[in-house]
Amino acid sequence: MIRTQEHNDPQPQPAQTGRADRHPAWCDRTRCTADPASQADGFRSDAGGEHRSAPIPLNLTTAMLPVRDGTAWLSEACAPWPCAVFLRVQVGDVELSMSADYAAPLFDALSALLASAATPEGANR
Ligand SMILES: [Zn+2]
Repeated sequence: MIRTQEHNDPQPQPAQTGRADRHPAWCDRTRCTADPASQADGFRSDAGGEHRSAPIPLNLTTAMLPVRDGTAWLSEACAPWPCAVFLRVQVGDVELSMSADYAAPLFDALSALLASAATPEGANR
């Protein structure tokens, strides 16, 4: 299920020492590679890891692609400062990565477009 992005985490985190120690509400701890301790002595882009959401499977069986399955998830780099949340989509060897702030209105528009195509049975004239 796709949820809209939330900017605030309503649940206080225990032992919170800074932004780097906070997991976003959507973070799946079993997939999270964020390592705030790696940033204690200064930012290291190769060591911070990332918060990762649970994957959403994309069934592409009817999409006329050579690959039948894809996966989508949210990702946020772990750094001492706030980082943008990205939507990542992996289909075969191709990976799409775009800011959630830009992806949300895009998918809202696509959802509205697709909703307009979902004609109730028998409504065609
Ligand atoms: Zn996390």
